[in-house]
Amino acid sequence: KLRKEETLRRGLHNTIQELKGNIRVFCRVRPLCGDEAEGKAPITLPSCEDHNQIELTQTSENALGRATAKTFPFKFDRVFSPESTQDAVFDEVSQLIQSALDGYPVCIFAYGQTGSGKTHTMQGPDSISTQDMDRPDLGIIPRAVRQIYETTSKLAQRGWEYSLEGQFLEIYNETIQDLLAPTTRNTQASGKQAKLDIYQDNEGHTRVKNVTTVSVDSAERVHWLLARAAENRTVAATNCNERSSRSHSVFTLYLQGKNSLTGESSSGVLNLIDLAGSERLSSSGSSGDRLKETQAINKSLACLGDVIAALAKGNRHIPYRNSKLTHLLQESLGAGNSKTLMFVCVNPSPASTQESLCSLQFATKVNSCQIGTAKRQAAS
Ligand code: ADP
Ligand code: MG
Repeated sequence: KLRKEETLRRGLHNTIQELKGNIRVFCRVRPLCGDEAEGKAPITLPSCEDHNQIELTQTSENALGRATAKTFPFKFDRVFSPESTQDAVFDEVSQLIQSALDGYPVCIFAYGQTGSGKTHTMQGPDSISTQDMDRPDLGIIPRAVRQIYETTSKLAQRGWEYSLEGQFLEIYNETIQDLLAPTTRNTQASGKQAKLDIYQDNEGHTRVKNVTTVSVDSAERVHWLLARAAENRTVAATNCNERSSRSHSVFTLYLQGKNSLTGESSSGVLNLIDLAGSERLSSSGSSGDRLKETQAINKSLACLGDVIAALAKGNRHIPYRNSKLTHLLQESLGAGNSKTLMFVCVNPSPASTQESLCSLQFATKVNSCQIGTAKRQAAS
């Protein structure tokens, strides 16, 4: 009976997911802060009833010196207003966390210019202690982990036993660095962090060589993990914020489940990715290290868009290897049953209009992939 219920529950869950398609895009507009509040915000959320539309108005002067305004409407699976709480956002994410527990590969990305709320959405406050588990400003990572613990302890009564293993990587200038390595090992000798390579293991899984994998067996362990990652970031950079806005950070949880009563097993992966700032620094204006950084970021974000589009079209060749980020996520993005969610984070201040427009356009491109997938599913 247990087994039947379980199968039924999963079957229903899968059907709901399939109906929605496996790529979703949520838009989140952060509140204005401090002196940003001056001038008219270019972002309007057409109606409170409709939680999936957003408009951006760009004003400029025409040749006669007259102000003209152009309005761009956008539609996503969900739009979160500046008043939306972390709680409300997580409500819409928790089903995907359940999918990872059920054995699906899941990727959740935060995309947007620096200062648009990516880290707030993915992680929340910089440092969290064990006493802070009920803080309202916690982001997706700590909430996901909490949900996983709560769910696995319930599932234990039905015979499920889970093992959770975590990794935390940073991709900076197309090199992969281990945010969980002991800080001394990272910085020894060269004063630089060790670079890691991607390889394929005997079973064809994409792995990272010599990466630190920690068993995440308690909530305390997660706090330890986040603290170590923060420490490694600080050691590696003179200006921590600057550095984190120029790199992608990828938190990965491998969730292996086994049911001792039914003999079933599941193997899911949850990737939570805080992308590098998408602001388009002109290559002409920068030189040296800055130019290299800029090129690396532009290339990897464009490549992410290309990979998602190629997957949705059902192309035979998917250009995973064009960037470290997509190569690293190859298995999670490309498995037939993978689920992807992208948050496009938007800063509503007038000074950010152009960047917001670019972000919303990129997100629209990703969003259109979902239509492709749904069509393909309908046709087959
Ligand atoms: P990013 O990671 O995209 O560079 P952050 O997440 O660091 O941006 O956000 C920039 C600032 O705005 C931070 O001080 C953050 O706390 C604040 N912030 C971002 N989003 C929100 C939000 N939804 N509500 C309140 N404050 C926010
Ligand atoms: Mg950030």
